[in-house]
Amino acid sequence: MSESTPRTRAQRRRSRQIRLSITASVFLAVVVVLGISLTNGKASSASDSAGVVRDREVATATPEQDKTPGKDKPRTTSTPKATSTPDAEVATDPQVGIAPEPTSATSVNAEGGLVPVISQVKTTDRVVFLTIDDGYAKDPAFKEYVVANKIPLTMFLVSQAAAAKPSFFSSIATVKGSSIQNHGVNHSSLRTLSAAGQRKQICGNAATEKKLFGKAPTLVRPPYGAYNQTTRSVAYQCGMKALVLWSASMPSSRLYYGSGTKLKPGDIILIHFRPTDGVKNMKKLLGIINAANLQIGSLTDYVK
Ligand SMILES: [Zn+2]
Repeated sequence: MSESTPRTRAQRRRSRQIRLSITASVFLAVVVVLGISLTNGKASSASDSAGVVRDREVATATPEQDKTPGKDKPRTTSTPKATSTPDAEVATDPQVGIAPEPTSATSVNAEGGLVPVISQVKTTDRVVFLTIDDGYAKDPAFKEYVVANKIPLTMFLVSQAAAAKPSFFSSIATVKGSSIQNHGVNHSSLRTLSAAGQRKQICGNAATEKKLFGKAPTLVRPPYGAYNQTTRSVAYQCGMKALVLWSASMPSSRLYYGSGTKLKPGDIILIHFRPTDGVKNMKKLLGIINAANLQIGSLTDYVK
């Protein structure tokens, strides 16, 4: 036992030491674990915040850099204004009355085999007529604008220009009150041509337009407004009902009146298909028509 007792003491000491060391190591372990977890936490939170910052940079800075502030700023100052202002104008465009039912139509009679010459429609209805010539220039923005706003246009087309892209004009012609009419084959001045030459221009145009659009024109506008008696006779022979001139014109952004200083009921306004600014000029014209308390009539409703 005596032998056993010191052993036991020694064992007890040892076991105490062991317990102490275990407690210490457990404590240490806890401290270490806590320490690690704290450091990890800090590390992870640091990496998170770094990630967030990086993400933010990616989410915000990169697209901005992609847009390139240099490119973006002009867009918001000039280009978007150029595109968004017209859009805003579309919404606030003067609502011009369109193609009202005529209370009286101008009946045109060819007397002595000569078509009448009309530069203004005799009517008391508060309407004017938009006629647009040539068709060499085909601005898609203009087409979209007049179709979207249902603006009736009487199109006097050069048949060569029409044949280059008939869909452009047939699309505009879907607007109620619009029509495709005769402006010769190649924009020759009819007055300088023989009867046969004029026939080629007027009958030739009518044949081509009938083929292209399924309907022959009934109105002719001589290029440059230049015509003679032969023109009226040939026009009649080619199936035209009237030779149509104009009483006001808008060559670009300014409206010129044939007489006086304002539009009058029955005025026939001449414009042209242009490569640019068609929408801008049309908006201006609509504003003038609206301010004069006039509507846009369909020429073929009034000239029969
Ligand atoms: Zn012309």
